[in-house]
Amino acid sequence: MESVPNFIGGQWTAVSAHEFSNVINPATAEVLAHVHLDGAEEVHRAVQAASQAFPDWRQTPPEDRIQYLFRLKQLLEDNLDELARTITVENGKTLAESKGELRRGIENVEVACGIPTLMQGYNLEDVARGIDEIMIRQPLGVVAAITPFNFPAMIPLWFLPYAVACGNTMIVKPSEKVPLTMQKFFGLIERLDLPSGVLNLVNGGKPAVDALLDHPDVRAISFVGSTPVAKYVYARAAQSGKRVQCQGGAKNHVVVLPDADMEATTQIVSDSAFGCAGQRCLAVSVAVTVGEARKTFRDAIVEAAGLIQVGSGLDDGVGMGPVITRESKARIEAAVETGTRQGARAVLDGRGARVNGLEGGHFIRPTVLDGVAPGGPLSSTEIFGPVLSLTHAASVDEAIGIVARNPYGNASSIFTSSGAAARKFRYQAPTGNVGVNIGVAAPMAYFPFSGWKDSFLGALHGQGRDSVEFYTDKKVVIERWPQEWSRKF
Ligand code: NAD
Repeated sequence: MESVPNFIGGQWTAVSAHEFSNVINPATAEVLAHVHLDGAEEVHRAVQAASQAFPDWRQTPPEDRIQYLFRLKQLLEDNLDELARTITVENGKTLAESKGELRRGIENVEVACGIPTLMQGYNLEDVARGIDEIMIRQPLGVVAAITPFNFPAMIPLWFLPYAVACGNTMIVKPSEKVPLTMQKFFGLIERLDLPSGVLNLVNGGKPAVDALLDHPDVRAISFVGSTPVAKYVYARAAQSGKRVQCQGGAKNHVVVLPDADMEATTQIVSDSAFGCAGQRCLAVSVAVTVGEARKTFRDAIVEAAGLIQVGSGLDDGVGMGPVITRESKARIEAAVETGTRQGARAVLDGRGARVNGLEGGHFIRPTVLDGVAPGGPLSSTEIFGPVLSLTHAASVDEAIGIVARNPYGNASSIFTSSGAAARKFRYQAPTGNVGVNIGVAAPMAYFPFSGWKDSFLGALHGQGRDSVEFYTDKKVVIERWPQEWSRKF
């Protein structure tokens, strides 16, 4: 079996590394491809290609640069079904979820097409008599994105369109668990006839990441993944003087008040907790019920979750696919076991799931744990699987206190019909993304994808205007042109 090739300097290149791992279809356990785990040498070649491409790409007018993005958008639309299928086969999520992720990715291509406006600087005449001051944004040079397994297309697209539209050249290092989506995507990039070296794809594991973090010619790193790796990447990249943005893990809480529309709330929370098999960084992981919502919500969510059909994401009617690896399945089931030993009650237990005809698949059915202690390990450790923990508070203030004790700060939501309670929550919730009667508080591409505390390290987020700030340097020019120093015409 061939290993997944790299795309460097406009060419697909074979791989010279020795260590490989299998890319596995999580629904069937079938080996789809081999991917090399090194990649350090390839990073050096990609940085060289990107460095060579930079001077000319930087001088290409923004208006011309975005023409490639308009074509990319069309190619993504035309190939949406095939790309979605690849995502589902290597990641496990349902086809509808794969198409949804592609739509959110395309949205970023669309927003980056506004670069001729978004990238403008500003100026002021006569900051002192006869002296003008101008702020210009310039691209950084070679930048890189290191991305996780759970959104194989959307997350690279949080960064790539802005980086190249701003005039940078880029290297993408996808997750070694799901390299096939980016392989397909770069097949489309090849059809754009971009100048070679502007966009490069390097597969690999930690050695490839370290090579990007240490390379003196890589100016900026965009990372998305788990918090321990985010912290490592942040520190190591900063050590070599790079600009870094690292999105980390999550433990998203939702507060359910008794005045919420319980039917709609249940459906929305169920979709959030169990969609993508709980492997979304914005998935609800803990529901904090207030007052009498405790029983009504618990009974309703157990019923809704129990109705979700689990199976291959390619099959019609399936609402939830497998989790990514056998190790993830074992880890998630062990977390449920620990939780129940510590006093939580599995009111819906999805462990040991089997799907007919897919016996090798990494399936777990939706799981609901009741009576989870606030502040205990189940309410503060990222599980990243289809497990919803229920905990209880006597008041909104107590519920907000529980959200605040969470070390992560990616997202939180409240469900209520009270404007006052919603405002209090919006004001006080210590998370970067907040939902009011929203289950997955995912910012549109023209807003920053925020995240606080252990969910984000850095200052500028991905998407929208923050991306333009991240991928450009500001240059301030102060000019004086006295009449007496110039030839008179
Ligand atoms: P991960 O941290 O294992 O891997 C992410 C990337 O880092 C991959 O490209 C991987 O090759 C690389 N990597 C892994 N270990 C490394 C190491 N020791 N040194 C250097 N590089 C290393 O994450 P994952 O399992 O692929 O993705 C799931 C995680 O990503 C979850 O924690 C989830 O919450 C998080 N995530 C966060 C967001 C967000 O917006 N905050 C979005 C999506 C996913």
